[in-house]
Amino acid sequence: MKRDYEYVVLGLGGFGSAAAYWLARRAGSEVLGLEQFELGHVRGESQDHSRIIRLSYHTPEYVELAKHAYRAWADVEHDSGEQLVLRTGGLDFAGRVSAIPLSNYSNSMDAAGVPYERLDAGEIMRRWPPFRLSDDVHGLYQPESGIAMAAKANATHQRMARKYGARLLEGGQVGDIRTEAGEARIEVDGVTYRCRRLVIAAGAWSNQVLLSFGARLPLTITQEQVTYFATPHLADFQPDRFPIWIWMDDPCYYGFPAFGEAAVKAGQDAGGQEVTANTRTFEPDQPALRRVIGFLGDRLPTALGPIVYTRTCLYTLTPDRDFIIDKVPGHPEALMAIGGGHGFKFASLIGQILSEPAIDGETPHDLETFRMDRAILQLQNPPTHYMV
Ligand SMILES: Cc1cc2nc3c(=O)[nH]c(=O)nc-3n(C[C@H](O)[C@H](O)[C@H](O)COP(=O)(O)OP(=O)(O)OC[C@H]3O[C@@H](n4cnc5c(N)ncnc54)[C@H](O)[C@@H]3O)c2cc1C
Repeated sequence: MKRDYEYVVLGLGGFGSAAAYWLARRAGSEVLGLEQFELGHVRGESQDHSRIIRLSYHTPEYVELAKHAYRAWADVEHDSGEQLVLRTGGLDFAGRVSAIPLSNYSNSMDAAGVPYERLDAGEIMRRWPPFRLSDDVHGLYQPESGIAMAAKANATHQRMARKYGARLLEGGQVGDIRTEAGEARIEVDGVTYRCRRLVIAAGAWSNQVLLSFGARLPLTITQEQVTYFATPHLADFQPDRFPIWIWMDDPCYYGFPAFGEAAVKAGQDAGGQEVTANTRTFEPDQPALRRVIGFLGDRLPTALGPIVYTRTCLYTLTPDRDFIIDKVPGHPEALMAIGGGHGFKFASLIGQILSEPAIDGETPHDLETFRMDRAILQLQNPPTHYMV
């Protein structure tokens, strides 16, 4: 059995599956992917039918990155023959004074040349009658926003990585990791694999993996959740007539048209309890659920209906919510990516970006904001700013 590879990917959730795919497109059977659970498991961050994808972002840099993200998804769709992104249009809305200023989003889209519309409450309700909004509410509508089909996209990345020759191992316990002399050695259930470049995409387990590198990041893991509501008005919430939406305030809520279930989905962003990957449960947080129901009752009442299910999920939050995409400092053989609880829309792109320094030694993308040695990540107890 082959034990020496050019590239090993540690963690096969959203980012790792994408990295395995993009590496295998160029390096075929020189790619080994390692996942501690079964592929498609629900203990991490990337499960479920849908994630929001949007160009609308709080800095021009993320808007530019999102343009590349759409291109990466289109490339995988073309290569695999699967649809992975569904454009529904997207509404960012809030009261005139809100914790997340809509002007950050409009200014960023202006700077990046992305078209959008400014809508007042009346216009929002005219276009999408289920909304019930007071006069002080305003919004931004961007037509490219929509749904990244999370579970399907992960399965597609995995299937295509294997098609290109990658070996993906499930259920292996990764033990010791050592890097020296331009290679990494990874022990899995007593077998040592060697590679030239190690890509770490371990999500909520990142700090456990970093122990082997003598490093630790000030990450906060939270247990988040989304709930599917079987609205009796399903026709009003079809993806061709109802957008993804984000309420840009603190608390911040978001939701989807009917997709994946005969129900609409809604949740609160960064509203969950702090946990670890080991202490998390799969039990719905009832107060958090009541907050979402309260929000929908006020502003989107016909979305409510019997609860189909609430699905829990983890966020791996950096204190500034910016991603980490970088070499592990002092270990040029190892690269790492962390998504800050908003990374899925970029998953394929991040996989592609990780493959570039791994194979070529460099990437055309400017990753300065995502450095692992940025100042805030050097603090033991950094201030956190999650509402961006
Ligand atoms: C409720 C919720 C809603 C979200 N909504 C959005 C959204 O609308 N839009 C958006 O863009 N993003 C969203 N996100 C964030 C996005 O889903 C994550 O940023 C993204 O999925 C992170 O993927 P990942 O690969 O880093 O983590 P994961 O998918 O968790 O993958 C990490 C993998 O590494 C494996 N692993 C860890 N350690 C080891 C080891 N030692 N050996 C082997 N395997 C290991 C784990 O088992 C896991 O499979 C949301 C997240 C949640 C939870």
